[in-house]
Amino acid sequence: MDVTKRYISLSKRKVNRDPITEPWPEIGLVLENAPEDPLPSIRVKDGVIIEMDGKRREDFDLIDRFIADYGIDKSGCERAMALPSADIAKRLVDVNVTRDEIVGLTVGLTPAKLMRVVCELNIVEIMMAQMKMRARRSIGNQAHVTNLKDNPVLMSMDAAEAALRGFTELETTGVVGRIAPLNAIALLVGGQAGRPGVLTQCSMEEAYELQLGIQGLTTFAETLSVYGTEGVFTDGDDTPWSKAFLSAGYLSRGIKTRFSSGTGSEVMMGAAEGKSMLYLEARCLWIIKASGIQGTQNGSLDGIAITSTLPGGLKTVASENLIASMLGLEVASGNDTYFTESDMRRTAKFVPTLFAGTDLITSGYSATPNSDNVFAGSNVDTEHYDDWYMIQRDFSVDGGIVPVKEEDVVRVRRRAGKAMQALFEELHFAPIGDEEIEAAVFAYSGEDIIDRNIRNDIRCAELVLTEGITGLDIACALNRRGFAFEGESILALLKHRVAADYLQTSAFVDSNLNVKSIINDRNDYRGPGTAYRPDEERIKKLNDNARLKTFRNILEDANACGPDGEDIDIREIGDAERGKRKDEVVIAVSPSFGSHQKKTLGDIPHLRVLDEVIAGIEEEGLRARCVKCYESSDLGVIASIGAKLSGSGIGVGIQSKGTSEIQQKDFSPLFNLELFSQAPLLDREAYRKIGGSAARYAKGETPEPLPARIDPSVHPLLIKSSVLHYFDTQRIVRRKKPVEFTYVEKGAKE
Ligand code: CA
Repeated sequence: MDVTKRYISLSKRKVNRDPITEPWPEIGLVLENAPEDPLPSIRVKDGVIIEMDGKRREDFDLIDRFIADYGIDKSGCERAMALPSADIAKRLVDVNVTRDEIVGLTVGLTPAKLMRVVCELNIVEIMMAQMKMRARRSIGNQAHVTNLKDNPVLMSMDAAEAALRGFTELETTGVVGRIAPLNAIALLVGGQAGRPGVLTQCSMEEAYELQLGIQGLTTFAETLSVYGTEGVFTDGDDTPWSKAFLSAGYLSRGIKTRFSSGTGSEVMMGAAEGKSMLYLEARCLWIIKASGIQGTQNGSLDGIAITSTLPGGLKTVASENLIASMLGLEVASGNDTYFTESDMRRTAKFVPTLFAGTDLITSGYSATPNSDNVFAGSNVDTEHYDDWYMIQRDFSVDGGIVPVKEEDVVRVRRRAGKAMQALFEELHFAPIGDEEIEAAVFAYSGEDIIDRNIRNDIRCAELVLTEGITGLDIACALNRRGFAFEGESILALLKHRVAADYLQTSAFVDSNLNVKSIINDRNDYRGPGTAYRPDEERIKKLNDNARLKTFRNILEDANACGPDGEDIDIREIGDAERGKRKDEVVIAVSPSFGSHQKKTLGDIPHLRVLDEVIAGIEEEGLRARCVKCYESSDLGVIASIGAKLSGSGIGVGIQSKGTSEIQQKDFSPLFNLELFSQAPLLDREAYRKIGGSAARYAKGETPEPLPARIDPSVHPLLIKSSVLHYFDTQRIVRRKKPVEFTYVEKGAKE
């Protein structure tokens, strides 16, 4: 078959490297409503669930049993289950039905019913519901902080920077497991140097991670994975009971805990039992709820590379976040795994959640370049900060992170490094040199740092465990060495653990070291104007962009000449007369040309614009005359004035911003011989050609129009163009006649 050039080009787009598949229900590669999914049902007898989703109690597997006995609200479930799915779905998007009313219902819904309810919704409705159903009023965001070298200095600095940018939680892990205690300490110390109160964790083998928590080196845990089939659970020597037991270990020490789940995991483990991913995820979410755990990180997570290959995959992922919120759980809504080569798909993935707002919009924004992301890369990384900020700015939404100044980034990074240096000295760990700190402050990634002896660091990490070094020891050591700020923050977090306030659903610690959670910051969305809206101060912070230029800045920029000082000195001669010579072309310029603006949008100094146009005219054997129009800044009017003053009847009009046209004296100002509207594209050569063409028209020839150039990338400069045109218009002098002028280069020898 013939292949069109457009198809060749399309085939090279990155999106076409993304695999796509079709459903295969037998292995569980099906998003929703698999043939094997049960029909929703419930029967309660004497306070015991005797049938759930088409299965009698005697046929329950471990998961059914766990959900039925510890999860589902036995008093309200029959009433809730009797409601049609579509009816519950409508209540989800109805702003007059409160979140609390919905949660009162949903805790009586079985996994099969929950799936059917969310399947009634399209993506916008899912997000409408999500906005109402998230637990907490404030939104938050979570970052990954890792590096391939497990370098504690760099890691502490990346933690500090992430905290400064506003992430509420930071998580790390280790390439080498044995070094994990140092990584946990790097986040604990570095995080507080960036923003007091930021919560940190270190994802590790279960017992090991719990030990770090018990020693006070982490403040939350979230990698307690649950699965929707018994087969996958028991393969990992686990059951819902063992997970609940493990989580009780964290909770007994006042550590914020959430589970991890997500569509696709059972397919990956090869034991989906032919059930759909969303049904199995609803089961996972019920296990979490039944365990008494306050929240989940879900949204497919690692499984996104599977769900996203199916039609409707990303909608299903949004649905699973919604089910978590419907059950009253805190949701860290994914957006944390690299799944596509396409920037557009990547953006489309997180934008709906960003708009609706979840408790934690990403459950792992890579606060390092993805090349250093040990979780195998995130959907968004350090390269995307400015894009994220612009999207927040464009839509007036709060995505949980804020623009920061580079000097502040440098300050907190250095502070984190110095705190780690002092702490390592106090603990007699392998020392951190000043030059190591300086290299890491300014590094892009682990490639740019001074390497440490990792064997020494591992030995120190092991000491943390064998000597039982605690968070309190670290707080005291920092305090002794002049890092009282970080020491106090760590102590405050430890106190919160004792008070256990932050075991409440969706808790975080704000920068005043106060806990906010569903108790004192409950989402109360009731339609427009209610619940969380960023206040004026927050909006100012979200919009604070270092690139912001005032309109005066734009004018000042247009007033600055070229790098070689190519300034123009315009010398007015007197009122411009109508020319008699047939061999002249008049160049007419706008009021501020060369006097109050000195260069075009294409950065061509006005001096050179005139030089080139005149050279072009003279190359055709004609002469040029320059006039300045004071009565108008409109290009059509200026060019017409020029043409009418011209002996040949041909004029060239040029605005200060560089837009130009060739005009004939008998034409209406709205018509022209040739228009060059994209000023940023006009270079010196273009102006010379304009002069040449004008001269040829003047000689009575019919030159071929100069080739059109189109470059959409100049369109975003329209605002600059409008501002310069405004300033040009400000220079208009009514009823002042056009003035003839000559010019020289300012400062040049005459
Ligand atoms: Ca996470």
